[in-house]
Amino acid sequence: MPKNSVDLIFDVGEKIAVFETTDGLDSLLQSVVDIVAKHMGSSVCSIYLYDSDRSRVVMAATHGLRQEAVGTVTLSLNEGVTGRALKELRPIKESTRSKHRLFKFVEGIDEDKYHSILAVPILRGLTRVGVLVIQDEDSDHFDDTDVQALRAIAAQLAQVIDDTRALLDLRDTSEETVPESVEHEDLRFLKGKPVSVGVAVGKAEIIASSEFDVLTAPADDDESSVEVFDRALLETRDQLKALQTHLDEQMADVASFIFGAHLLILQDQAFVGQMRELVEKGYSAERAVTNVVNDFIHIFSQHKNPRIAEKVQDVKDIGHRLMQNIQQRDLAHSGDYQGQIIIAEELMPSDFVKLATQKVEGVVILSGGGSTAHIAILARSLQVPLIFLDNYHLLEIPDGTEILMDAHQGTVFVEPDETVLANYQPMLKASKNLEEIAETINPETRTRDGERVFLLSNINLLSDVKVAIQLKAEGVGLYRSEFPFIVRNDFPSEEEQYRIYRRIVQGMEGKEVILRTLDVGGDKMLPYSTHAHETNPFLGLRAIRFTLKNPQIFSQQLRAMLRAGYEAPIHIMFPFISSVDDYIEARGCVRESIEELKRERIECCTTPKIGCMIELPAAVEVLPELAEVADFLCIGTNDLIQYLLAVDRTNERVSHLYIAHHPAVLRALKRIAEVKDRVDLSVCGDMAADQELIPFLLGIGIRKLSVDPRSIAVVQKVVQKTSIAEAEKIADTLLGFGLVKEVEDFLKACPTGNCNSESR
Ligand code: PEP
Ligand code: MG
Repeated sequence: MPKNSVDLIFDVGEKIAVFETTDGLDSLLQSVVDIVAKHMGSSVCSIYLYDSDRSRVVMAATHGLRQEAVGTVTLSLNEGVTGRALKELRPIKESTRSKHRLFKFVEGIDEDKYHSILAVPILRGLTRVGVLVIQDEDSDHFDDTDVQALRAIAAQLAQVIDDTRALLDLRDTSEETVPESVEHEDLRFLKGKPVSVGVAVGKAEIIASSEFDVLTAPADDDESSVEVFDRALLETRDQLKALQTHLDEQMADVASFIFGAHLLILQDQAFVGQMRELVEKGYSAERAVTNVVNDFIHIFSQHKNPRIAEKVQDVKDIGHRLMQNIQQRDLAHSGDYQGQIIIAEELMPSDFVKLATQKVEGVVILSGGGSTAHIAILARSLQVPLIFLDNYHLLEIPDGTEILMDAHQGTVFVEPDETVLANYQPMLKASKNLEEIAETINPETRTRDGERVFLLSNINLLSDVKVAIQLKAEGVGLYRSEFPFIVRNDFPSEEEQYRIYRRIVQGMEGKEVILRTLDVGGDKMLPYSTHAHETNPFLGLRAIRFTLKNPQIFSQQLRAMLRAGYEAPIHIMFPFISSVDDYIEARGCVRESIEELKRERIECCTTPKIGCMIELPAAVEVLPELAEVADFLCIGTNDLIQYLLAVDRTNERVSHLYIAHHPAVLRALKRIAEVKDRVDLSVCGDMAADQELIPFLLGIGIRKLSVDPRSIAVVQKVVQKTSIAEAEKIADTLLGFGLVKEVEDFLKACPTGNCNSESR
């Protein structure tokens, strides 16, 4: 059929000119695809509209393909010629004969018989509006004149589509502009970042910081009375107290008074008094609780002080508890969140601990902000599956929707179907059986050729100590002492700190324990700190800089550590050391504290080993001098990578640049390892558990690795499979590379566990 571009442009222009929004966009688009197909002599013409929220195109009209495709076929911007044209903001002309085929045939719409395609983006300025696509059976049906013609049409369409959609949105913001089935389809499978591994299934409970879902009183609620209310109140108080006692026993370090706010609210006369008043006036207990809780939720959420506004969740918790007790519904004493998956916009570390204590099955956090680094560490220690995922549509799904999360892969299934659930059954059943893992671990670790390697444990919470012992850690290579500080609402006293450190030291049964002094600042902010806001906290008053500036706090912590180390082999380690001067000043503080305790005749460790982290490029430069003065050094690869490569380790936008195997990092590590014969040296950053890089670390002479206790089994296996000779060869080869890509190609060619030199 002949092509007629002039008529085409004229006809489409006329259609657009007479178009009124009341006619509906769908009918306009349908006429346009019919006209275009006719004039271009192409078998198919379709228009896809862009949904910016989901970064996908959705078919909005077609001539030639099955009509069922309209509203249901969607493509990401990486899919097919259509998606790519919009992604790259340029027309793409393709034929199945072409070498670089971008074709993606959508099944079920008879698309595969068309061998040529031309997709032209519909753009308003640089704003993506949609894609105009034509297809034909002939392989080389379209030429450059067609590209010009379609460009002209797309330009005319852009404005009318964009304006019409905006008007429709204004008229009815609650109506979706794409069919519900598409939205639903899309939300069923979401990909995020796995943070704390595990698989969990449960009902969704949404915690949006800007919204709250109020309590609804049941309709048949008229049989309650003052007695029912008082009983429910007492039961609620008892349950919360029991929960707190349980926490104090199990997690003394971070759980101090975590349900304090709940208990305080429950004692508040304005809160409870108003409820009782309503009940005495003849309201049912359910209605009284509902009214007052909703009022409080409203007042709290509007409050200017964020510390008060964030108590909304506590009020909601109390409301639900009271309601369950009034209705004598079965409230599992183990907690409120059993069988539930929390989807939260943001979470405080203390909220996370609370959720974990209340037996939450898993957590999905939406925003990358907040204390994500700590939440990540907490989640791993508390063994709660956690995924970070940036899709705000998740907040719109109703509470109670079934969710399956696979925090190994980072996938979230909304309303998973039978097949998905069946596939995950074995993983859901597999218990996190530490005993079974422990059986596979040898008390001593040796390389294939018999060289001794020491595997220690990183500890974040007191509860990790038990796991470390069970999984045969040979000591604690890093205790991150900041957790009790971060999770609580105020500074723990010297006495409280002493009790925590003493339990770690005693729990480790005489093995080496490295207690790191406070590492706050950066992404580890104290919620109660009055410190001025820093524009760049990673380069600010962090870690040792903070403690040297706050001698009171430093001295309390050092005293607590020294007392805990009485007749026990403790090591004290400073984080974030950037000069020998810093180290000497900090060591001076330890010595002062020892003298003070001696004067006060308080039992303490008078000869602790003192050392520091090597995690700043400056420390690498003064390493020989540091090795002279320090009793031990520990390489913190997490920060070393961040500061060497100038990549914020918490910023998703540059996460692709956070490269542990970067030649600069490998060479810095090699330089650090050169002091290994002069000072006790270990690695305690995440790289120590990186299966691909362990042979490199062994090759440069590292013999001490401190890792999350749950990684010990895997790390031991890698060490056992490697011989020092081949590790040295691997390290030499890696150190010869200047390109990241060369390192990657080499590591890819030698998968973990296959590290013998022949295979390389
Ligand atoms: C590190 O920086 O490698 C490290 C172990 O410390 P943290 O992760 O606590 O900053
Ligand atoms: Mg660090």
